Amino acid sequence: MSRFFTSRYRHLTPYQPGEQPCFNSFLKLNTNESPFPPTPQVQEAAREAAGKLHLYSDPECTALRQALARTYQLSPRQLLCGNGSDELLYLAFLAFCGEACPAVFPDITYGFYSVFAEMTRVPFRTVPLLPDFSIDLFHEDLDQGTIFLANPNAPTGLWIPPEQLRAFLERHSRQLVVVDEAYVDFAGESALGLLEQHANLLVIQTFSKSRSLAGGRLGFCAAHPDIIADLNTLRNSLNPYNVNRMTMAAGIASLSDPVSFSRNCQRICQIREACRHALEKLGFTVTASKANFLFASHPAVSGKKLYQQLKAQGILVRHFDQPRISSYIRITIGTQPQMDRLLDALETILLTRKESL
Ligand SMILES: *Cc1c(COP(=O)(O)O)cnc(C)c1O
Repeated sequence: MSRFFTSRYRHLTPYQPGEQPCFNSFLKLNTNESPFPPTPQVQEAAREAAGKLHLYSDPECTALRQALARTYQLSPRQLLCGNGSDELLYLAFLAFCGEACPAVFPDITYGFYSVFAEMTRVPFRTVPLLPDFSIDLFHEDLDQGTIFLANPNAPTGLWIPPEQLRAFLERHSRQLVVVDEAYVDFAGESALGLLEQHANLLVIQTFSKSRSLAGGRLGFCAAHPDIIADLNTLRNSLNPYNVNRMTMAAGIASLSDPVSFSRNCQRICQIREACRHALEKLGFTVTASKANFLFASHPAVSGKKLYQQLKAQGILVRHFDQPRISSYIRITIGTQPQMDRLLDALETILLTRKESL
């Protein structure tokens, strides 16, 4: 730390992303990227846009918002695009939380929420997950402040179905409810359909997971136009050209190919279910994840050991050294051959453990 660093941020602990090794010898199952590269059409669209990189990108993301509006049957006025959904989450903390309006979220959820709360200097409360890792939607601490729910939740993968979410939005109609749908395309119906009836809902989605564009950095959010206007006030005070040309073109091309998109989502879900089954056969406890990852623990080997021994075999998964979930590892769903390699490695770990007993 330099002597110039402001005292405001001296104690800030930044978000810890999963390891991004520079050598691609590792099998990366640790940051929930898609194993499928963008289609040739998406790549071509980005290349073509590169020819205009001497010009600023469209600060309104007009064409992309129109494409999103068509895809999700919304009005462009309900939509805002971001440099990854993380940027939109940050803007939401800035815009809708404060001294009188704390941020509220589950104690086990996406790690960025508490980082953003500290970064924006807003008070926050956490609501403990129930013993089965589900979110206690009737907890009294949810009755005040701006609520952040990842749905499906991370890293548990558990999913609140739309009927329950609808009832929750009604019970909390005086509060803003931010639903982070980073993994919704692997789960079920989006909360976007609830926007019409619920002016207190802000839905955030990303192109990073289901649309194979993690490196492009693209997210969007949808809400009542007044909520979008507030976010735009802050975005235009920070970075009006927040989405670059190549990413914008890639995003539009991705939306224009719903067939590849849903085929990839289906493939991931099929591989997830097969992998869940195989893990259970090896003695793992696996949550009912509806995301593109599985969250699993084994009675005989700690989460940390699993993580370390997989890494020694060239496979990266995510381990969270946190109370209640430290026995678990989070495994991103890759291709079937990749999952076969993971399962072989886990089998080896379990066997050598037995032999050493
Ligand atoms: C991956 C993820 C995001 C953010 O993704 P971006 O790459 O910034 O769009 C947001 N929320 C959750 C729960 C995630 O897992």
